Amino acid sequence: ITGAVAGVKRETSQNPSGAKTQQQRGYDKPWLSGVDKGGNGGAQEQKKNTFLYSVYPDGVGPDSELINMLERDVVDRNPQVNFADIAELDDAKKTLQEAVLLPLYMPNYFKGIRRPWKGVLLFGPPGTGKTMLAKAVATQGKTTFFNITSSSISSKWKGESEKLVRILFEMARFYAPTTIFMDEIDAIAGARSSGEHESNRRVKAELLIQMDGVSVASSASANENQGEGERQKNVIVLAATNIPWDLDEAFRRRLEKRIYIPLPSEKGRQQLFDINLKGIKADEGVDWTELVRKTKGYSGADIANVCREAAMMPMRRKLLEGEVNFDEISKMNHDDLDVPITMADFNEALKNIQKSVSQNSLEDYQKWMAEFGCV
Ligand code: ADP
Repeated sequence: ITGAVAGVKRETSQNPSGAKTQQQRGYDKPWLSGVDKGGNGGAQEQKKNTFLYSVYPDGVGPDSELINMLERDVVDRNPQVNFADIAELDDAKKTLQEAVLLPLYMPNYFKGIRRPWKGVLLFGPPGTGKTMLAKAVATQGKTTFFNITSSSISSKWKGESEKLVRILFEMARFYAPTTIFMDEIDAIAGARSSGEHESNRRVKAELLIQMDGVSVASSASANENQGEGERQKNVIVLAATNIPWDLDEAFRRRLEKRIYIPLPSEKGRQQLFDINLKGIKADEGVDWTELVRKTKGYSGADIANVCREAAMMPMRRKLLEGEVNFDEISKMNHDDLDVPITMADFNEALKNIQKSVSQNSLEDYQKWMAEFGCV
């Protein structure tokens, strides 16, 4: 790894003493203003094996607020989503396993013509499982998951966004192997416009540099031929967007693998009902075929909402009909309240929850898929 963003290495089994080198303390980062180059490197530092302490031995410094924000809002150590929790999308799952997970497991095989993709883009209507897929990749690959919404970078940290991007990737390398998931990538990587703000341009440029750095890191690890230890350096970038046609061409090129995540098919909708209603009682009279038919055009998120709404109906009915009242609920046997959901409950829920994706936008996705997508 070269350049201003040289990686801070996490302690590995090859460094059992826990002693940190100067590089591990982060003294090689001139862009982090005010690092105490004399640092004490003492017991406290060894105790707290976090990125913050690797940069600032005392846990405070000019950029500690930014780092703390990232630790708090972005790092998800336990995404806990399995591919089996995701309805359908078999092609996307296979592609992600091949394009992202295999290079992580066998870096030496993925070099030269087999070099890993620089980045992967998941595109399609909202609520179709893009975030779930990214989390499943992180869970199965046992990587640290960074979940970042691009609009929060550009709005919350305006002015400092460029630094945020740099620290984000630096941190990702520290906690590697890491999956960085950038949701709403269009918010930061939208097409250039003539009136574009200079700071926006700088953030984009920084993100491009960092994404290139990621692919260098993975090919370097393959060349060094150091097996499992080197696997730990890998940082994977996954991005998602509902408006792929808004992406700047430079980003589109770097997100080499572009996977369409469509609305669920009939089979997928059936699976979504099964997944969402696991452990919930349903009346024998529920006509699942009819429900699957009626939810044509619904996204996975829409169906989850329908199920949530329907699942609340039996309780609401009891309260409404005065069969139970609020004061009695805490004293009642709750099994008595757990009555099955009926077809009428589902019909009521369907009245309240409409599909959220328009037919027009589906055609736009198909068009973009035909021009730029890959399976
Ligand atoms: P996206 O990132 O595409 O906007 P998410 O992955 O955040 O959508 O999905 C939102 C919610 O919708 C999930 O928490 C889940 O309840 C439901 N959902 C969407 N698609 C699926 C799917 N394919 N399988 C299971 N649940 C899904």
